[in-house]
Amino acid sequence: MSQYPNMLAPLDLGHTTLKNRVVMGSMHTGLEDRIWHRGKLAEYFAERARGDVGLIITGGYNPNRKGWFYPFSGSMMNMADVLSHRQVTKAVHEAGGKICLQILHAGRYAYTPWSRSASAIKSPINPFKPKAMSTKEVEQTIKDFARAAKLAKKAGYDGVEIMGSEGYLINQFTAPRTNQRTDKYGGSAENRNRFPIEIVRETRKLCGDDFIIVYRQSMIDLVPGGCSKDEIIALAKGIEQAGASIINTGIGWHEARVPTIVTSVPRAAFAAVTGEVKKHVNIPVIASNRINMPDTAEEIIASGQADMVSMARPMLADPHLVKKAAEGRSDEINTCIACNQACLDHTFQLKRASCLVNPQACHETELKYLKTHNPKKIAVVGAGPAGLSAATVAAERGHDVTLIDGADRIGGQFNMAARIPGKEEFWETIRYYGKMIEKHGVKLVLNRRVEPGELEKEGFDEIIIATGVVPRTPGIPGVDHAKVVSYVDVLRGNVEVGQRVAVIGAGGIGFDVSEFLAHDHNMPSPEPLDHWLREWGVDFASLEEGGLVQPEVDKPEREIYLMQRKTSSLGKDLGKTSGWVHRAVLKKKGVHFMKGCSYDRIDDAGLHITQGDESLVLDVDTVVICAGQESLRELYRDDQSHIHLIGGADVAAELDAKRAIRQGAELAAAL
Ligand code: FAD
Ligand code: NAP
Ligand code: SF4
Repeated sequence: MSQYPNMLAPLDLGHTTLKNRVVMGSMHTGLEDRIWHRGKLAEYFAERARGDVGLIITGGYNPNRKGWFYPFSGSMMNMADVLSHRQVTKAVHEAGGKICLQILHAGRYAYTPWSRSASAIKSPINPFKPKAMSTKEVEQTIKDFARAAKLAKKAGYDGVEIMGSEGYLINQFTAPRTNQRTDKYGGSAENRNRFPIEIVRETRKLCGDDFIIVYRQSMIDLVPGGCSKDEIIALAKGIEQAGASIINTGIGWHEARVPTIVTSVPRAAFAAVTGEVKKHVNIPVIASNRINMPDTAEEIIASGQADMVSMARPMLADPHLVKKAAEGRSDEINTCIACNQACLDHTFQLKRASCLVNPQACHETELKYLKTHNPKKIAVVGAGPAGLSAATVAAERGHDVTLIDGADRIGGQFNMAARIPGKEEFWETIRYYGKMIEKHGVKLVLNRRVEPGELEKEGFDEIIIATGVVPRTPGIPGVDHAKVVSYVDVLRGNVEVGQRVAVIGAGGIGFDVSEFLAHDHNMPSPEPLDHWLREWGVDFASLEEGGLVQPEVDKPEREIYLMQRKTSSLGKDLGKTSGWVHRAVLKKKGVHFMKGCSYDRIDDAGLHITQGDESLVLDVDTVVICAGQESLRELYRDDQSHIHLIGGADVAAELDAKRAIRQGAELAAAL
């Protein structure tokens, strides 16, 4: 008997049956737009199909030029598009999968000067102001959606997903926030909902009954002027009547100021809103957002909140998630930690997406872990992300690998990262690598600090130095005062931290340490969902004005100053899609942001600084140093070609786990 009977149950859609209840949600990876990337895209999807996901949904393709995200973004508009997509559908079908094309009109989110929307209202996150569509244009756009679906069918797709959420064009019609029209597509909820309902009806008419139509509906807009709960339920009923096969969930608009997918959002945080809609329709509904492991998926379906679950980023992290779950190997799943660093952050920088914990994602044809014909004896020093990645990939390829760390556990700095409130998912990466060490027979040696020159005598063919970094101690007078501590000691619980604290350095670690210090440590970890919803002002029950209510924030007892020398805004260089959340959390908690500081000295009176022309003394009990790191590379010798440097030991500046893991995997794939 499977551990996940509900998640793995087939779903009969009448004309076809899905093999299980897991949908790979739509993601824009950067491989969609260009015809010369079709081979890579095909292999990326085929790998997920081989991993037994029930249904794949592609990234968004535009039904017409006005709907482009940016000039020449991927579209489904003509026979040339049809022909180029056949490579993708063929690869997925040969791998035993099913795939739907997502049709997305960007509306006012388009980065083009000719963008269109329901009304001429600019989005706060886009410099281009859209023009309002005429009624004729609206009617033509409905036909364009249906034509794109028909073309998708010709290209071999099993169906389409019509993108009606996240604040894109269809959402701009359904919500009063962006729809001030006076024709039959504006005003009452019935009129605002007319546009998506007609799209679904027209699509069903043109494509026939033997075609899957998923409608992705915004179940909670999370913006002022968003739809009410009653309007959302009415739309779901209308979509069902118009002929949709399945309703998928979208949560929040891109411009919403409530986080919906970053790691601090509790798992399955929004499944309850899908559960509300499910009560009112008879077609299957899909729950979405922060569902990253099979037990969460199983719980949602078993509890009746949804018929299926959507996992998007988790399919980047582990294309074989479903297969592993079905074979009782859930402990081998490489879990998505919801960091956004290699996926969404790349997409917003117009770079190809990948995955921090799985650098093969979207690079399936380029980064391969092939069995070696020349097994070598390899030593890896340092079991942080870089060393773990190198050791496990090398061993998977058939090398004889010994992994050595001076600490009593694997994980390196991830053991500190995972202690930050809201970053508990990072434990999963350590768990995954622990399992891979066991599975691939890596010889693990803990509590051994390697000294320079030692390993050279032990007959290794290759030595990989992954010893990471040491915290930088800035040359501030008084830095050896008793009140000065390192972030390492704070996060490892080695020191007492006072009530008034200065944090020197506002990089990723300075932000994380401030969050750690501002946190109520009596709060269970991870944070309970009801508490998280209260702090962000989300109320599923009311669903007035997009589901937003007044946030209730617990103020910390500590007074915290987060400081940097630069005069730019604090946190400017944090992740594009997650940095704003870190800034918002600390602001809400009353942490003082101080920029343009020069640190004069530290003494019994506190931290003396100059900010602009002003000299100040911050009367603090503790000064926490988070001033970056320096590489630890005492074991490295550059005159030996069989000694390699990776991760923080290689370059400390701008180091993150994304680079560390990728560098480890690339080196191991090449040895
Ligand atoms: P490390 O993780 O530093 O590992 C080095 C290992 O080498 C250690 O286990 C050490 O014990 C061992 N070692 C050193 N010298 C020897 C020796 N002589 N003999 C034996 N063993 C030795 N990165 C992100 O990408 N995203 C985040 O959100 C993020 N959050 C973070 C939060 C915090 C609080 C911290 C501290 C770091 C965070 N990081 C984050 C950074 C990330 O953890 C590092 O980039 C990553 O750990 C670097 O990996 P590494 O393997 O190069 O080095
Ligand atoms: P960092 O990002 O390089 O930040 C170091 C901070 O210290 C900066 O604010 C810098 O600002 C200050 N600083 C540098 N030298 C100093 C000196 N001599 N005296 C005083 N201040 C000094 O490094 P980090 O915060 O230690 O993070 C390390 C890496 O971990 C980062 O590269 C990051 O990618 C990763 N990380 C990522 C996340 C995430 O959420 N993605 C979270 C944590 C860590 P000024 O020079 O302006 O003072
Ligand atoms: Fe998940 Fe981070 Fe990988 Fe994106 S980069 S898929 S968020 S683990």
